[in-house]
Amino acid sequence: MPQISIPLVVFYVVEDQPKMVDITLLVHEHQVSPESYIDELHHGAIYCPKCGVMCSRQPRKKAKRKDNVDGFFFHLKDFEHIKCEYRKAGGTKAGDGDGKAKKAINLINFNGWKSVEDDDGGDEDEDGDQDKKGKREVARGSTGNRTGGELTFGEDGSLLKAGNFSTVSRLLQVARKSLDINVQFPGHEATRIGDLIISVEKLQKNSERYIGKSWLIYGVPTSIESGKFKYFYNFASPGHKFAIYCDREVVMGKEWQGRERGRYYLFYGLLERRGDNSTVVRVTELGQAHRVSLSARKFFSKVGAG
Ligand SMILES: [Zn+2]
Repeated sequence: MPQISIPLVVFYVVEDQPKMVDITLLVHEHQVSPESYIDELHHGAIYCPKCGVMCSRQPRKKAKRKDNVDGFFFHLKDFEHIKCEYRKAGGTKAGDGDGKAKKAINLINFNGWKSVEDDDGGDEDEDGDQDKKGKREVARGSTGNRTGGELTFGEDGSLLKAGNFSTVSRLLQVARKSLDINVQFPGHEATRIGDLIISVEKLQKNSERYIGKSWLIYGVPTSIESGKFKYFYNFASPGHKFAIYCDREVVMGKEWQGRERGRYYLFYGLLERRGDNSTVVRVTELGQAHRVSLSARKFFSKVGAG
């Protein structure tokens, strides 16, 4: 796996703070380890001692990230063409740097659900389209996306940097790369994505343990009804009923009016109990719902169903 964390950076004072400096200028400058870094005010611009590219630190000011990963340095984006031994597979005498980097990048941060208004025609494509895109990304090594985050894959197809998400479609894409990616919602403990995904069948068997928490829930609705303000995706089973209450705008925004049954749907939301021995999840934002491509069936049959 290409190494992305840099064990030591150089603190170098220069007025205009160029994005890259000649490394010979850095030789005698003060070196800073991730542990001894305080903040930007103290250290100004920091540079990689091996290639002279400006670096940044994650997180900026604290010793650890929310997911308890130690802070680490990385090269600024857009300098991937500059050769650096810290980018090479296998790394250098980085000690535990490589492991640190692996942990640090296994996190995807919540970026607010995509709403109807800011629909950018992004990642809601159906079926093979997205898969093809995913493969291209892997082949190319890395890519940006339209929602402000970045998905970066190593040459072996492993996810290096999960970035942000604002749709469950993105979460699914990440989960299909690795179930060990952690999902971070602000103010919550990061959760392993594999632990977030549950099937409707599992939920119907024992809903108690899932009530009051938010989940990525997938299943094939037994019926879909449209009301004045909502669509109801019903999952009936003996003794217990589970339904997704999906705001009309969400469904309209996705052009799901076809109401095809026999397809997987994926929703994210809080599971709540209602008085009539049923449980519901309310879906109000476009990003919280996704009609799952047929190619995902095999994936779902392995995940979250046990
Ligand atoms: Zn470098």
